[in-house]
Amino acid sequence: MNTYAEECFAEIKAKNPGEPEFHQAVHEVFKSVSPVLEKRPIYRKMKILERLAIPERTIIFRVPWVDDKGDVRVNTGYRVEMNSAIGPYKGGLRFHSSVYLGLLKFLAFEQTFKNSLTTLPMGGGKGGSDFDPHGKSTMEVMKFCQSFMIELSRHIGQFTDVPAGDIGVGGREIGYMFGQYKRLKNEFSGVLTGKGVKWGGSFIRPEATGYGCAYFASEMLATVGQSLAGKTCLISGAGNVAQFMVQKLIQEGAKVVTLSDSSGHIYDEEGINEEKLEFVLELKNGFRGRISEYAKQYPHAVYTPFDPNLGYNKIWDHKADCAFPCATQNEINAVDAANMVKNGVKLVAEGSNMSTVPEGVDIFEDSGILFAPGKASNAGGVATSGLEMTQNSQRIMWTREDVDKHLRIIMKNIHASCLSAAEAYGSPGNYVVGANIHGFTKVADAMCDQGIV
Ligand code: NDP
Repeated sequence: MNTYAEECFAEIKAKNPGEPEFHQAVHEVFKSVSPVLEKRPIYRKMKILERLAIPERTIIFRVPWVDDKGDVRVNTGYRVEMNSAIGPYKGGLRFHSSVYLGLLKFLAFEQTFKNSLTTLPMGGGKGGSDFDPHGKSTMEVMKFCQSFMIELSRHIGQFTDVPAGDIGVGGREIGYMFGQYKRLKNEFSGVLTGKGVKWGGSFIRPEATGYGCAYFASEMLATVGQSLAGKTCLISGAGNVAQFMVQKLIQEGAKVVTLSDSSGHIYDEEGINEEKLEFVLELKNGFRGRISEYAKQYPHAVYTPFDPNLGYNKIWDHKADCAFPCATQNEINAVDAANMVKNGVKLVAEGSNMSTVPEGVDIFEDSGILFAPGKASNAGGVATSGLEMTQNSQRIMWTREDVDKHLRIIMKNIHASCLSAAEAYGSPGNYVVGANIHGFTKVADAMCDQGIV
């Protein structure tokens, strides 16, 4: 790491104690962009790193609501408005019991570079709450969303900050929050993305992260003269990203053998086909059930509960060609990474954000497999959110085919930009370095152009 980056990282670590995910994300970016900092001393003069790591604004608020028994519940709500150098703040809302400020700072920091990679005019932001939607009734979820939006509505707007979904926030939650925003502001605007297609949403937005990740993986495989057809694939998670990742991989002729949730994973040696995927969609989006039900419905599949004391996750210990983590951050540790390499995995493309611990990334890089970091390979979701914003501004709706065509082009361009930036700075084929440098440079230059703000 270059001296400026090292000094700056030490200061950020000291000033933001107890935020390991944030430190991890900052360290990775600072390390990757070190050769750029050497070449362009203006970034040090303009204190770009220091400014990038401090959110432009952080909002923390109380979210009181009443559950079905009439008991009062209280959660904490957040919105981290990280960087608006290239556009309004943009990034999802996460509802999960593990949410705290440091987690959202990591996600908002990553989002800034991811959004830059899409080429669309979007700054970086992230928000959410420690509210856990598991086991809550639909009415409870609605009451929480409405209370959350009462405060959030003061800070967001179609030209200011445009949130979307993330873990625990899908079409249902976006609907309740949009309804409340409209009621509070008396305006129908593109203040959120991931809206229903009948009320301002875009075709392909629900599919976009999974589809985009598959398109990115196809581009990676094309560099070694291969395609997804015939590949055996591991996928973790069973939510929005995982579901549409499965769908696209089936369409591309690949065989998906795993899915998971936080309780465990299923292994289906025959592969998940359209009919089985339909069951998963109904199970997860309709009944909000557990993935273990899959093995009851299809008894040839094996369900293995997650064992937190094992030190690794058995989902990554199956023979396969490709792996797509689509659950959460740091879900692949060093043992998992070594297991994947041992089992023949030749490509890992992250659907979740920062899916792999740094030691795991090193293992992938040392073994020479194709590895794409989430900020590049999962950028299709926010890119299509950007296209939803465009359609909202135009007050027209593009066809499914149009949106999908744009998504494919964007993913192809991100792939090409990563490779050319990596090559230009002496790390050919390294998608981590390429994504960080390309995403960073555009934001840093915009910050220089806009002065000390
Ligand atoms: P969902 O809430 O739809 O699904 C999340 C899935 O991951 C569920 O199966 C959930 O299981 C599992 N999961 C969540 N947290 C954990 C955990 N701590 N340990 C193990 N499993 C866990 O979320 P999404 O599919 O939208 O998001 C998945 C990932 O993709 C996240 O990292 C998100 O940041 C990233 N992402 C999402 C985008 C989007 O457009 N939605 C865009 C870009 C990235 P359970 O139900 O048991 O909690």
